Amino acid sequence: MTARKAPPEIHVQAAMRDPRVLEAFATRSDVDPMWRDRAACKDVDPELFYTEGMGMGNPAGLQYAAMMTCQRCPVQTPCLARALDTGDLFAVMGCTTPADRNPMIVAWRRLLDAERAAAVDGELVSA
Ligand code: SF4
Repeated sequence: MTARKAPPEIHVQAAMRDPRVLEAFATRSDVDPMWRDRAACKDVDPELFYTEGMGMGNPAGLQYAAMMTCQRCPVQTPCLARALDTGDLFAVMGCTTPADRNPMIVAWRRLLDAERAAAVDGELVSA
């Protein structure tokens, strides 16, 4: 993950309620391992999606083109889960830009922490 300014708390709170984040989190363990085979970008130059920190001449135009591909993609949810899990802040992934995902990544980590804490609590109760 690249160094990026911490997102405002209000954006993180919004990301915690974002249906795209919640669906990606809820379904992340139940993903078809071959989901990339169905990606709309399967045969598209990957450089189209890496628009940040690469010295590109027109990152906004490239992001738009990448987002148009994502919008017709049937595997946006597992792609977003992958992007949030890895903390990617370089590429358009899961129909989100790196700027979109900055607060989502913080929200994702909080969801993971909450899940782990609930699991520990459950173990303590059943012990
Ligand atoms: S959501 Fe976008 S980046 Fe992800 S697999 Fe689909 S087209 Fe590719």
